[in-house]
Amino acid sequence: AKTTGRDRALFYSMETNQRAVARQTMELQLRRALERNELSLHYQPRLSAQGAQLLGVEALLRWTSPVLGSIPPGEFIPIAEETGMIRAIGSWVLQQACEQWVRWQQLALDTGPGDAVVPHPLARASISVNLSAAQMAAPSLVTDIEALLARTGMPAHRLELEITESQLMENAHAAEQQLAALKALGVQLSIDDFGTGYSSLAYLKRFDIDRLKVDKSFVRDMLANPADMAITSAIIALGHTLGLKIVAEGVEDLATAKVLSALDCEELQGYHFSRPLPAPALEVWALQHAPQ
Ligand code: C2E
Ligand code: CA
Ligand code: CA
Ligand code: CA
Repeated sequence: AKTTGRDRALFYSMETNQRAVARQTMELQLRRALERNELSLHYQPRLSAQGAQLLGVEALLRWTSPVLGSIPPGEFIPIAEETGMIRAIGSWVLQQACEQWVRWQQLALDTGPGDAVVPHPLARASISVNLSAAQMAAPSLVTDIEALLARTGMPAHRLELEITESQLMENAHAAEQQLAALKALGVQLSIDDFGTGYSSLAYLKRFDIDRLKVDKSFVRDMLANPADMAITSAIIALGHTLGLKIVAEGVEDLATAKVLSALDCEELQGYHFSRPLPAPALEVWALQHAPQ
């Protein structure tokens, strides 16, 4: 059938309208998600490229709505950011992550007869939390985190905060001060999704950062795509020049892990090792896969 311009315009406006309704529904449900206990954290391990040692875990937010089902963070986090809900959600994430880390310290393993107990491999891992721009901009961020660490008993150097490259550059001056204050607390700092935004190398030098995380869009296909390979190895070389450790995320197979390791990338994360898992499943994974 032939569609006229008017039909098409009507169709598009209906579609736009449907999208607006869907977004409104999501926003409405998200407002209640925290109090209704619909949010949870999954954890994905980060391993040393050389010994495949468990170095840390990244906390990743999950939302299962009884109305909408399970919604990926890529869909609901932008809404949380636009509406300001990310502040409450983000501090909930930080709190949960620290409490989980403390629980892992208490997970001692009974090794059999006698009293000998050894710590669980997760007790040695650090925990990473993603921070959104609104959290970075909040003047209370540093005192909130300081209070959280004191309250939970978590040592600062075991907490790592991930900030995306674009967040850092959007308001570089404010970010520089926040990061310096966080660093003074002793927490570790990573630049996430590195290579996808634009970074001024001069700024990169000014931030007191511990790690660069090479974005998974470069890592995933680097064996098939020479440009991705070139970008990844350039980021590794650049990071090393600046004294940073490099994490490759999105490592989906052994061949990629081997090449990254040969390129001197220190740390690996990705489906090849494990998907993000709920805490109990990760505890089992760590016992089976992480060398002691
Ligand atoms: P991100 O921080 O870059 O997290 C890594 C994402 O890559 C996660 O997606 C993870 O599941 C996925 N991933 C890990 N390994 C692989 C792999 O080998 N292949 C592929 N294709 N993907 C892999 P997820 O969990 O859907 O999270 C998406 C994004 O949502 C995160 O990207 C982060 O930007 C944001 N996010 C998640 N949790 C939080 C949170 O608590 N706070 C904030 N502000 N943002 C969060
Ligand atoms: Ca991240
Ligand atoms: Ca990332
Ligand atoms: Ca991201």
